[in-house]
Amino acid sequence: MEKILISSCFLGNKVRYDGKDNLLTENFIQRWQQEQRLVVICPELAGGLLTPRAPAEIKCHNDDGIQVVTNTGGDVTVAFQRGANEALRVCQLHGIRYALLKESSPSCGSSTIYDGSFKQSKIPGQGITTRLLTANGIKVYSEKTMAALCLELATIAST
Ligand code: SF4
Repeated sequence: MEKILISSCFLGNKVRYDGKDNLLTENFIQRWQQEQRLVVICPELAGGLLTPRAPAEIKCHNDDGIQVVTNTGGDVTVAFQRGANEALRVCQLHGIRYALLKESSPSCGSSTIYDGSFKQSKIPGQGITTRLLTANGIKVYSEKTMAALCLELATIAST
C-alpha cells in the first residue's frame, strides 16, 4: 500500500506560522490515517523553526537563485532548505512516491506561492520542499488537487 507524505497542518496540528492549522476533514484522510499510510511532516519545524514564527515568503533573484525571507527581513533560507532535505530523507526512508502538501506555502506549495512582497499576492511557483521532492520524482498534490491523487492511488490499487 502506497504511503503518503502529508503536511502536518492538514491533520489539525497547530504548526502554522500563526499557531493555527489547516485541518482537512475529508473521510479518506481519516481512512488513510487508520490504514497507517500517512507519514507526517511540517518542513518548517523539521528545519528548526518554531511555532509561532514570522511569516515568510520566497524571493526570486535573477542572479543567485531563491531566498526565503520573513516579513521583518530575516533570511530563513537555510532552515527552509534543511526542512526540505528532511522531507526528502523521510520519503526515501519510507519509499514514498506521493505527497499531499498545503498549497501556496513557501515550503509546501505546489502550484502557487506568495510573491515575496507580503501583500497577499500569489504567483505560479513551488515551495522549497515541493521543489526538492518533485526534482526527486515524488508527485506532490495539494488540497486543491487531492481528487487527482485519490484517482491515481485507486488506479494503482486496481492494477
Ligand atoms: S510548512 Fe507545510 S506543514 Fe508546516 S505549517 Fe506550513 S504548510 Fe503546514
